Amino acid sequence: MKAAVVRAFGEPLVIEERPDPEPGPGQVRIRVEASGLCHTDIHAAHGDWPVKPTPPFVPGHEGVGLVEKLGAGVTHLTVGRRVAVPWLGRACGRCEHCLSGWETLCEQQINTGYGCDGGYAEKMLAWADFAQTVPEGISALEAAPLTCAGVTTYKALKVAGVRPTQLVAVSGVGGLGHLAVQYAKIAGAQVAAIDVTDDKLELARELGADFVIDARTQDVGAELKRLGGAHAALALAVNPAAFEALNSGLRRGGKLVMVALPAHGTIQVPIFDTVLNGNSVVGSIVGTRQDLAEVFRLHAAGRTRVVHETRPLAAVNESIDEVLRGQVKARIVFDLGTGR
Ligand code: NAD
Ligand code: ZN
Ligand code: ZN
Repeated sequence: MKAAVVRAFGEPLVIEERPDPEPGPGQVRIRVEASGLCHTDIHAAHGDWPVKPTPPFVPGHEGVGLVEKLGAGVTHLTVGRRVAVPWLGRACGRCEHCLSGWETLCEQQINTGYGCDGGYAEKMLAWADFAQTVPEGISALEAAPLTCAGVTTYKALKVAGVRPTQLVAVSGVGGLGHLAVQYAKIAGAQVAAIDVTDDKLELARELGADFVIDARTQDVGAELKRLGGAHAALALAVNPAAFEALNSGLRRGGKLVMVALPAHGTIQVPIFDTVLNGNSVVGSIVGTRQDLAEVFRLHAAGRTRVVHETRPLAAVNESIDEVLRGQVKARIVFDLGTGR
């Protein structure tokens, strides 16, 4: 089987021929049909974060495919079932976080495409208990972006506690943001979408944004304040300055939800304003299996639209460049054989 491998940080990925991986106890082998390119995979390939993966590794945590082989003890999945393999590859199931509905905070977790090989491959392994079954009627190409971009933004809105009529600012209408706009509308909020390309701002409008703000030419904080200030602001753009701009556009009692993970990112949070205004700054990391099940249910019910462009896995390096240049409409999905 072929896999796209990070051999060294910052170097182009290499397409390698590898033996099919053998599922261990509790695992399944999946024939990957589609695999989304999340910006996190680029951070992984560049070694951007303090906790780094160990090359060589196969990135990808939006892999979707058909179960091909069951490891020992797997009883709830069958060969041929379509499953999605998210960032939360496995968690311990026993710690305080796992037991309180916060498995995404488990300190024993293993992350797909980071702590173990991921979905940029024709075949991959997954822990069966964390492989999410994809409901009938959702194609692999659509399921892929939902598996990270979808669940992450759906969860970020839960963390923000958004209620109908509130103003939600979505900064960065990329893979994550184009779904965030839709979930915020489903939650009954008004949406102000912020980006730096005309195409993304137009896409945000198409997807239901009530207001768009062009961060190249407009003062994001001032524009949000002019709208009354954001009750919740989702920071999805890979740029610390964009986090600070959002923070200055919160209304009193507002929440800045940090989601994007720029390399070496830090921001200045003014103490006086934060205290007097009763604002919060909170981080949000992906979502649980239950969150992903809800994301799939919403999509199966026709409530969301996944905007994607397909590429062959062999175009992995060019695809990464396209994302970095901001040229992708929302999400690139590698098509590994949906037509087979
Ligand atoms: P993306 O590249 O698809 O989208 C980023 C968007 O931000 C693009 O539309 C770009 O035009 C826009 N942008 C760039 N500069 C901007 C600015 N100054 N103001 C407003 N918009 C700007 O990336 P993505 O796949 O959506 O991922 C976004 C970030 O979220 C990455 O850092 C990724 O690692 C992170 N992420 C975090 C989680 C989590 O659980 N916290 C999960 C997935 C991804
Ligand atoms: Zn991701
Ligand atoms: Zn745990």
